[in-house]
Amino acid sequence: MHTYPDAHSVVSAMAPDEPVILNRPHAASRAAKFFTEHFPGKVLYAVKANPSPELIRVLWDAGITHYDVASIAEVRLVRAELAEATLCFMHPIKTRKAIAEAYHQHGCKTFSLDTMEELHKIVEACRDPETGAAANDLRLAVRLRVSSEHAQLSLAAKFGCDLTEAPSLLQEARQYCDWLGVCFHVGSQAMSPFAFVQALDRTRAAIAEASVVIDMIDVGGGFPSVYPGLEPPPLEDYFKIIHQHFYALPVAYNAELWCEPGRALCAEYSSVIVKVEKRRGDELYINDGAYGALYDAAHVDWRFPVVALADDLRDPLMDFAFYGPTCDDADYMAGPFPLPADIKAGDYIEVGMLGAYGAAMKTGFNGFGDAEQFIVADEPMASLFDGSRKRPEADNVISLR
Ligand SMILES: *Cc1c(COP(=O)(O)O)cnc(C)c1O
Repeated sequence: MHTYPDAHSVVSAMAPDEPVILNRPHAASRAAKFFTEHFPGKVLYAVKANPSPELIRVLWDAGITHYDVASIAEVRLVRAELAEATLCFMHPIKTRKAIAEAYHQHGCKTFSLDTMEELHKIVEACRDPETGAAANDLRLAVRLRVSSEHAQLSLAAKFGCDLTEAPSLLQEARQYCDWLGVCFHVGSQAMSPFAFVQALDRTRAAIAEASVVIDMIDVGGGFPSVYPGLEPPPLEDYFKIIHQHFYALPVAYNAELWCEPGRALCAEYSSVIVKVEKRRGDELYINDGAYGALYDAAHVDWRFPVVALADDLRDPLMDFAFYGPTCDDADYMAGPFPLPADIKAGDYIEVGMLGAYGAAMKTGFNGFGDAEQFIVADEPMASLFDGSRKRPEADNVISLR
């Protein structure tokens, strides 16, 4: 695929009528290498953050060998792309058919669960279809419910067993596998490493109560990226604190430590070029929105960084809100998005940091799903991995270009 230097050159070459997704393989590769080099354990990529086959290949080439998949479609997708990847089916509610296909056809041995019902479903689905013998190579991870209080997006309410249920579930799961783990998710974009401390304390309590041998601790995702108004401490702080608290757990001497970042590995991978179709005061009608890559901007008021791509805009920045292209009032993004005050219909805007839960969210609702994709060589609008960020104590200002 042709590589463009940056968003400006794409606009000059194409004057695109539809949104355009710009991908930066170098940025995803750099994030993956940072994690594999600095995280004190194994790094899984959580595929739901961005299931693009091209991205999955980039991450594999950068050293990510394990993939957290949540649906049979994700299992098939990663297996089709990477014959040798290790697949871990980490959604705690799966259908019996999905489990059986993942195990028998795609070599997936690792499954998470948060109920007895799911445990027995997994055990049954993985039996040898001819002999009925139970699988002897299952690797099970009990999902614990933990607090999401430090995260921007909660994953606390839906999944995970609580401390009263965990001990008996761990004991029962231990009967069916030689390798037993505990996993959790502190919520997405966790703004403090302390989120993991609380979760690991809870893990300690569950293991102590169960008194079973634990072979793996999976601290899940939640590692932050950087957005306007959401500037996290350095990832090294998260890794250090996780490492310390992992070492203090009552687990097997050779127990493994895992993490499952989605956002942190791919947020910098993509940006999107949108076109201004109309201006009404401080509101811009653009061609992507709540049902497209800007899903989070509309539904959870996420502020993504923006730059205008027109050369003739001279005015200082002012704050804008966006309307997306569909006919639905909910297709609205409050922002604020600072752009030159003289921006007008026909101008283009690049919206950054959309590699995670952005490009993946596009739907065809109302006929507005199309987007061409190109590779660009320039830097993402912000990066946790390019060496530019000082510790936040020293510099509270995010470096946006
Ligand atoms: C969504 C999810 C992840 C990735 O979360 P991020 O916040 O994107 O890092 C990891 N593990 C599980 C089980 C998830 O559901």
